[in-house]
Amino acid sequence: MNKFEALGLEKSLLDAIADMGFETPSEVQEKAIPILLETETDLVALAQTGTGKTAAFGFPLIQKIDSASRTTQGLILSPTRELCLQITKEIQAYSKYEKQINTVAIYGGASITDQSRQIKRGAQIIVATPGRMKDMISRRLVDISKIDYCILDEADEMLNMGFFEDIKDILSNTPDEKSTWLFSATMPKEVSIIAKKFMHNPQEITVGTKNAGTSTVQHEYYVVGGRDRYPALKRLADTNPAIFAVIFCRTKRDTQKVAEKLIEDGYSAGALHGDLSQNQRDLVMNSFRKKQIQMLVATDVAARGIDVNDITHVINYQLPDEIETYTHRSGRTGRAGKSGISMVIITRSEMRKIKAIENKIQQKFITKKIPTGIEICEIQLFHLANKIKETEVNEEIEAYLPAINDVLKDVDREELIKKIVSVEFTRFFSYYKKGKDLNQAGSSDGREGRDGGDFSRGPGNGQVRYFINVGEKDGYDWMSLKDFVRDTVGLGKDDLFKVDVKDSFSFFNTEAEVTDKILSTFTDLKVDGRFVNVEVSKNPGGGGGGRRNRSGGGGGGRRDRNKSGGSGGRDKRRGGNSFSKSENSGKRRSKKRKSDFF
Ligand code: ADP
Ligand code: MG
Repeated sequence: MNKFEALGLEKSLLDAIADMGFETPSEVQEKAIPILLETETDLVALAQTGTGKTAAFGFPLIQKIDSASRTTQGLILSPTRELCLQITKEIQAYSKYEKQINTVAIYGGASITDQSRQIKRGAQIIVATPGRMKDMISRRLVDISKIDYCILDEADEMLNMGFFEDIKDILSNTPDEKSTWLFSATMPKEVSIIAKKFMHNPQEITVGTKNAGTSTVQHEYYVVGGRDRYPALKRLADTNPAIFAVIFCRTKRDTQKVAEKLIEDGYSAGALHGDLSQNQRDLVMNSFRKKQIQMLVATDVAARGIDVNDITHVINYQLPDEIETYTHRSGRTGRAGKSGISMVIITRSEMRKIKAIENKIQQKFITKKIPTGIEICEIQLFHLANKIKETEVNEEIEAYLPAINDVLKDVDREELIKKIVSVEFTRFFSYYKKGKDLNQAGSSDGREGRDGGDFSRGPGNGQVRYFINVGEKDGYDWMSLKDFVRDTVGLGKDDLFKVDVKDSFSFFNTEAEVTDKILSTFTDLKVDGRFVNVEVSKNPGGGGGGRRNRSGGGGGGRRDRNKSGGSGGRDKRRGGNSFSKSENSGKRRSKKRKSDFF
C-alpha cells in the first residue's frame, strides 16, 4: 500500500497522483487529508508556501464531492487570478479520472458571461477570487447556498489584500452547516478573527514553526550605498547567469523603472505591477512561466499568487515595510523541495531590519559581498565556455561551412577560442574593468566610475545634483541659498545638501524623489524680474570639479537663454544644456517620457 493510499484516498485519486509523479505526501497533506476525509470538521491549517496545500484540501474535496449531482458543492476562494487558475488546473489534474467532476474558475478581468455559462453547465467545484465571486452572487449567476465545503486558500494574503468584507459577504450566502477549511502560510490577527467569526471549533494543524520562512531558502544580505542599488542588482544578476528570479520593489514606479533599466541593459526582464492592464500582466506572467523572462520585477501586491516553481532567487531590491511581507517574498523560491536564495540589498541604516526579520523567520542571514568586476568577469567567462561546450550545433550552418572555414582559415585553434569568447566577454569586460567596489564598508564616497548607476538623472542612484543660475554675485551664501530653494519649492529642513555657491551660479544636491518638484517649481520662475533656472547637473561632485563647470557654462550665456527661451519646456532646456550634454541625456529624456505613460 503506498503512502497516499494509507491516508485513505481512493483509486481514481491514487492513479492521478501516480501520473503527477507524487511519491510521498508532504507533511501538511499527511496531517490534513485523514482528518478531512474522516470527519466533517472545520480546519485551520498553517503551512508555508510550496508545501503542497492545494492537494491537502484538493484530494479530500474531490473524494467527498458527489459527482452524480451537478449542484455546486465546493467553493475555493483564493487571492488572485493567477492562483485561481493554478488551483483550478491542479484540481482538474487530480480529478482527471473522475470524469463527472467539473471545476470552474471565476476571476476578474475575463468575460463574466463565459464564466456564468460554464457554471450553468454544472460546476461541483468553483475556484474564485473574492471580488468576481461577490459580483456573480449579486447578479445571481452562481448559487452557493448548498455548498458543503468552503476553502479559504492563502487566507493571510486574501486579508492582506483587503478582501475581508468580500469574504464576509460571500460566506453569508453559504449554509451554516458547511465545513470551512482555512489554509494559510501565516496567522496574523485578521486570520484568527476570520477563524473565530466564521468557524466552529476548528481543528488546527501546523507544519513547521508558525510564521517560519521556508527552510530550503538561504537568506543573504548585501550592504551598499543608497545610490548603488541598481548597479548592485546588475552585479548579482551577472554573477548568476542562469538566474530565474523575482525582484521585489516597493513602489510601482520603481518596479517599472528597474525593469525598464534592466531591459535597456540587455537583460530579459519584465515588470509586473498594478498599473499594467490585465492583458499586459498576463503576457508578462506567461513569458515568465515559459522562462522567456529571466527576471520579473514586481510589486508585492502584483506578485501575490505567483506560483512558479523553479525560481532560483528572490531579490529584495528594497525591503518591504512589513516583516510579514518578507516571508511572502522569500516563499516564492525554494518551493517543492528545491533550494532557493533570498537576497536583500540594503543600506547600512537598514541593517537593524535584518535582525527583526531573523527573529521572525527564525533563521540567520548570511552577510555577503557584492562581487567585484573581476569576479564577475571570471564567472561570465566560465559560463560562456560552458555554454559553447553545451550548445547544440545548428545543422543549417553546414552549407555555409566551407565559406566560414575560408574566412577563418588563418586563425589557429587557440586564437579562435579567444576570439569566440571575446565576442561576448568584451561587453562585460569593458563594462566592469573600471567598476568600483560597491560594498558599503569598503567604498568611499567617490561617485566617479560607478557602473551605470543612474536610471533617472544626476549622479548616483538616489541623489541628484543641480545647477542653479544664482550665486555670490546675487548676494547668496550657502545658507541663504539653501533657505531660498527650500522655501520656494516647499522642501523639508534636511532635503538640500552639498550646497556649493560659486560666483554667478551654484550647485546643490537632493534625493531623487524631489527632482520633479524642484524642476517644475523652477520652470518660468522669476525672482526680482529675472528668471531663476535650475537644471540637473552632470557634474557628480560635491564641491570639486567646479572649474570645469565654470568654463563649461558661463552665467552669462545661461541667463540669455533663459530670457529668450523661458517657456521652452524642461526637455529642451535640459537637452541643450552644456552640463547634461552627454551620450546619456537623450536616453534619459526618452526614458522619462516612457515612465510618464505608465
Ligand atoms: P502551496 O499551496 O502550499 O504553496 P502547492 O499546493 O502549490 O503549495 O504545491 C507546490 C508544488 O508542489 C506544486 O507544483 C505541486 O504540484 C507539488 N506537490 C504537491 N504535493 C506534492 C507531493 N506530495 N509530492 C511532490 N510534489 C508535490
Ligand atoms: Mg497554495
